[in-house]
Amino acid sequence: SDREEALLAKARSIGAEFVYEPEYVAKGVREYLNLMEQGLKQPKQAMTMIPTYVTAVPNGTEKGVYLAVDLGGTNFRVCSIHLHGDSKFTLTQAKTPIPKELMTGTSKGLFSFLAKQIEDFVKKHHSDHFEPETSYSQLKLGFTFSFPVEQVALNKGYLIRWTKGFDIQDAIGKDVCELLQTEIDALGLPVRVVALVNDTVGTLMARSYTSPGKAGTLLGAIFGTGTNGAYVEKLPRIPKLFNKTENYGEYDSSSGVMVINTEWGAFDNAMKVLPDTPYDRALDKNSVNPGMQMFEKRVSGMFLGEILRNAIVALMDDGLFNMGHGTSIDENGPLFTPWSIDTSALSTIQADYTSSYSLTKQLLERDMGVSAASTGDAMAVKALVYGIGKRSARLSAIPIAATAIATGAYENYKQAKAEAKEGEEVEKIDIGVDGSVVEYYPGFERYLREALRDIQPLVAGAAGLEEAIRIGIAKDGSGVGAALIALVA
Ligand code: ADP
Repeated sequence: SDREEALLAKARSIGAEFVYEPEYVAKGVREYLNLMEQGLKQPKQAMTMIPTYVTAVPNGTEKGVYLAVDLGGTNFRVCSIHLHGDSKFTLTQAKTPIPKELMTGTSKGLFSFLAKQIEDFVKKHHSDHFEPETSYSQLKLGFTFSFPVEQVALNKGYLIRWTKGFDIQDAIGKDVCELLQTEIDALGLPVRVVALVNDTVGTLMARSYTSPGKAGTLLGAIFGTGTNGAYVEKLPRIPKLFNKTENYGEYDSSSGVMVINTEWGAFDNAMKVLPDTPYDRALDKNSVNPGMQMFEKRVSGMFLGEILRNAIVALMDDGLFNMGHGTSIDENGPLFTPWSIDTSALSTIQADYTSSYSLTKQLLERDMGVSAASTGDAMAVKALVYGIGKRSARLSAIPIAATAIATGAYENYKQAKAEAKEGEEVEKIDIGVDGSVVEYYPGFERYLREALRDIQPLVAGAAGLEEAIRIGIAKDGSGVGAALIALVA
C-alpha cells in the first residue's frame, strides 16, 4: 500500500543516518591513535590508558584453584576456577542480577550485597575451607571491577567514576578492594581479595591462556553492557609511568611490557569524529552522564536498545507506523518509556529471516507494546536495527585497527610474513573478545572486518591489516582472567 511504501521510505532514510562511511572510520582510527598517545603520555586524559600492573600474559601452563567475582554491569558473578595447566580449566559459577536500587544507593549497600553472594557461594562449593582442621585456609580472590579506577597496585585501586548506569557517590575516590574486603571480613569468610581486575584485562588473560597461538594475545575487548579494551604495551611507549611526580606503584619491569586498560568507552567524548544523530543526542541527554562515554553510547548493549527506541519514536512521528489496520501501540508501554528496550531485541530482529517477519512481529507485541504489527511495520523496524547494529560493529573496528598499528604488532606480522619460507604459516595477531553484543548480534564480526578492509587504503600502515587479525571469543573471560591474575599476585 501507499502507506507501507511511505513508511519504508522513511525507515530507510532514518536507517541511512546510521551509515558510517569508510573515510569517517579512517578519521576515527587517526583520532584514536592521537588520543592513545596522549593518554600514555599523561594521566587524566580523555582516554585514560590506565596501567594495570599486569606485566605478562599467560601461556596455558598455569595451575591452581582461585575465586573470582565480577561486577561489570547487569549481573554479579561469583565463580571458582580450577586451572589444569594445559590451556583447559573447569569453572563453577553463580550469577545474580544486581538490584537496580543498589546501583544508585550507598557503597555499603552494594558491597555488603556482594559479600553476601560470596558467602553463599563459598559455603555451598568450598565448605572445606570452613573446617577448623584446614584452619580456614584462605581462598585468593580476583575482583573483576569494570569501571574506571586509578590503580596503584595489583590489589588497590581508587574509583574514578561510575559508568553503565551506576551512580554511588560515596564510593568515588575509595579503594574498591578495601570496600569489598571489609564486607567479606564482616561475614568472617576465609577469602582474601588479592587482585583488582578490569574485565578487559581478564578477557585478555583468559584468551591468552586458552588461545591456540604461542605468541600470546595482543588485545582483550568487551562488547557487552559497556565496551572497553586492554592490550599489551611496551614500557617505553608509556612515558607517564616514568613521571616521578605521579603516584604509580612498583612493578616488575623484566618483561618490558605492561597491560594497559584503555577505557576506550570515553573515546572522542569531544565529539570530533564520532557519528552523531538526533537519536544519539536524545539518548545522551537522557543518560546519567551526558557528554561522557560517547563511544560506548554508540556501540554497547546498554545503549543500542535505547537508540532503537528513539529511532522508532521518530518513525512514528507522522503516523505512518502501525496505523489503519485496527492495531494499537500502548502509549504507556516500552516505546514511550526510556531505556525499556533490551539490546537483545536488535539481535532477534536482525536474525529474523522469516518471509512474514513473524519473529519481529512477535517481539514488537511482547516487548514493545505494538499489537498486531503489519509486515511493513516489521520491515521498517528491521531497517532501523540494521543501521544501528552495523554502525556499532564498524565503530568497533577503530580501536582494533589502531591498537594493531600503534603497538607495532602489525609491522611485526608483516616482517614475519616477508621472512617466512614458502608455505610457512605466520601467526596472526590474536584478539580476544567477550560480551553479548559481539557474541549474539548477527554479523557483528563480519561488519567489523568490512570496516577494517575499508580503512586499509585510507590509514597509514593499514594495508592488508584485516587478514592479519584473528578474533576469538574468550568464554568466561572475566572469571578465568581474574583467577590468572590472582595466581600471579
Ligand atoms: P556484561 O557486559 O554485563 O557482563 P553481557 O556481555 O551479557 O554482560 O552484556 C549484557 C548486555 O548485552 C545488555 O546490555 C543486554 O541488553 C545485551 N544483550 C543481551 N543479550 C543480547 C543479544 N542476544 N544480542 C545483543 N545484545 C544482547
